[in-house]
Amino acid sequence: MPDRFIPVCEPLLDGNELDYVTDAVRTGWISSAGKYVAGFEEAFGKYLGAEHAVSCSSGTAALHLACKAVGIGPGVEVIVPDFTMIASAFAVQYCGATPVFVDCDRRTWNIDVNLLEDAITPRTRAIMPVHIYGHPCDMDPIMDLARQHDLVVIEDAAEAIGSEYRGRLCGSIGHIGCFSFYANKTITCGEGGMVVTNLPEVADKARYYRNMCFPLTDAREYRHEETGFNYRMPNTVAAIGLAQTERVGHYVECRRRNARRYNDRLRDVKGLATPVEEPWAVNSYWMYGILVEDEFGPDRDAVVRGLRDNGVDTRKFFQPMHVQECMAAYVKEGPGSYPITNEIAARGLYLPSGSALAEEQIEHVCSCLRELQAA
Ligand SMILES: *Cc1c(COP(=O)(O)O)cnc(C)c1O
Repeated sequence: MPDRFIPVCEPLLDGNELDYVTDAVRTGWISSAGKYVAGFEEAFGKYLGAEHAVSCSSGTAALHLACKAVGIGPGVEVIVPDFTMIASAFAVQYCGATPVFVDCDRRTWNIDVNLLEDAITPRTRAIMPVHIYGHPCDMDPIMDLARQHDLVVIEDAAEAIGSEYRGRLCGSIGHIGCFSFYANKTITCGEGGMVVTNLPEVADKARYYRNMCFPLTDAREYRHEETGFNYRMPNTVAAIGLAQTERVGHYVECRRRNARRYNDRLRDVKGLATPVEEPWAVNSYWMYGILVEDEFGPDRDAVVRGLRDNGVDTRKFFQPMHVQECMAAYVKEGPGSYPITNEIAARGLYLPSGSALAEEQIEHVCSCLRELQAA
């Protein structure tokens, strides 16, 4: 194992993070009642151009709050991509509702909008598009279908901070957008999430469920009409989130610069499919994913091993939802119904993609890939 190990992703905390956290600790405001929580919500909402931003403890919590806020519950179906991170499906499952999995498309790896209409039933209440690895979903047809069938659109924008669809930021296009600030996300506060929306009643509901269903009007009254959750974000964490939001443009540019550097070096490597950026999209390249085609030579698992032996950390793509044991109850179709997800899950991996990645590191990763092919 070489001594210089290139990680898949490391947080870059090079703004006011330490000052704000120090202030929170010095002043004793470490719970969720401090000024940085409101400050982070305001700054993030403003960045997105959304009226309301509700912070919470994780991206998974944000998705759960969004589902609860629009009344997702037993007997209801929510359309979710088969190719996604498990949290999208968990949020639906937590509500006692049924996730309905739809295959993805081979170019963007996002939910295939051409398959959506067939997945809609009288029980469908919402669609949850996920902007995979930073490439936006094709939102116009999704919003059109939602209007026709009276559905709610909950964007899982955890991987799409700074991504744009036809000039609009991802997470601000559907009825609700959900974000994660986990350590590897484009901006981070270690653990955290945000629900953004222009609908005041949705924001109020999200706040209500976030705070254990204490009455919004007076939290000191111990009266609870519904089952709530403690999904509050601490002030110390929000302090980091605010500092990161101040520099969000910089972090998005770091991810895009990584992608340009990879694209330049990998363009002519036979048998590697690199990420696309559709003409209508700004890809924020949260993770730089590649597919290892047969023409490359070594298969995906051999590439992962070969890179690791050369000090390069990678991750294989998500496994499809329809193969997850915890989702088995919802899978009515055979595995043949998800051909594209099956294929990209078997061929995909992502390369080091953090905001702090240096050009020499990218050069090293790419020369390792070329050597693996030649070997
Ligand atoms: C990271 C991620 C989440 C979950 O966020 P956490 O903060 O880890 O709970 C949800 N959906 C997608 C697509 C993600 O990538």
